[in-house]
Amino acid sequence: MPEVIPESTIRVLDHGFVRLDDAMADDLSVVNAARVSFARRKEEMDESDEGLIRFLMRDRHGTPFEHNSFRFHIRSPIFVAREWMRHRVGSFNEFSMRYAKATDDFYVPEAEDVRSQVGKPGAYTFETVSPELAEQTREELRALYDAAYTTYARLVEQGVARELARSVMPVGAYTEFYWTVNARSLMNFVSLRAAETAQREIRRYADACERFLAERMPVTYDAFVAAGRVGP
Ligand SMILES: Cc1cc2nc3c(=O)[nH]c(=O)nc-3n(C[C@H](O)[C@H](O)[C@H](O)COP(=O)(O)OP(=O)(O)OC[C@H]3O[C@@H](n4cnc5c(N)ncnc54)[C@H](O)[C@@H]3O)c2cc1C
Repeated sequence: MPEVIPESTIRVLDHGFVRLDDAMADDLSVVNAARVSFARRKEEMDESDEGLIRFLMRDRHGTPFEHNSFRFHIRSPIFVAREWMRHRVGSFNEFSMRYAKATDDFYVPEAEDVRSQVGKPGAYTFETVSPELAEQTREELRALYDAAYTTYARLVEQGVARELARSVMPVGAYTEFYWTVNARSLMNFVSLRAAETAQREIRRYADACERFLAERMPVTYDAFVAAGRVGP
């Protein structure tokens, strides 16, 4: 049985979440999109349909996986959102610091997530640092965030436009956005961003999105995993 995610919300990092706002997504839509080629339609999945989904995935017949939709509401640090919005196949709308006051929530990693970066591009390994350096990093981030937000709030208070005052906000500040995406594009995102090579923070968000895919389209999800986590 697929997992049922309480209140369709998964908490991520210290102030973030992935919430499935709505979805029109099931495995049957994949099967019916494929079978329309033969003027056939099913009301319920059976074993042969599961085989069909595995075949479509394996042979990279991607378009039947596009007739569905996941609408996510996400709260993440700005640097995670920047990575996320590189994924062009999908629709985004984001919180605006022109029109609304910036949040004072900032990302402070857990001590075990403070890491060093060893090696070269394409072959980095990330290693834990000493407890002292981890704590120092967390304290320096907090101090910097405090200073940035104090300056931001003062400038806005003095009448500087929010669109300009936001220049002082660090990329560790939280933002919110909606992301609507179909399963094909979602699998591409999960394939790239839940991978070991992806940055740890966006990986946690991709893991959350992956759980929603598994919940709503379990046969598709199993076929994706069986195909080596490469989307069609
Ligand atoms: C580990 C990692 C490191 C990265 N590092 C960097 C970096 O240093 N610098 C950087 O700029 N980006 C970086 N990226 C972002 C990366 O280059 C992609 O922009 C991002 O992963 C989106 O992937 P995508 O194009 O497959 O997804 P989408 O944009 O959602 O596109 C989905 C698919 O649609 C097709 N498609 C979409 N647009 C086009 C097009 N114009 N032409 C042809 N086919 C298209 C492709 O098949 C594509 O895979 C990184 C990504 C990862 C995962």
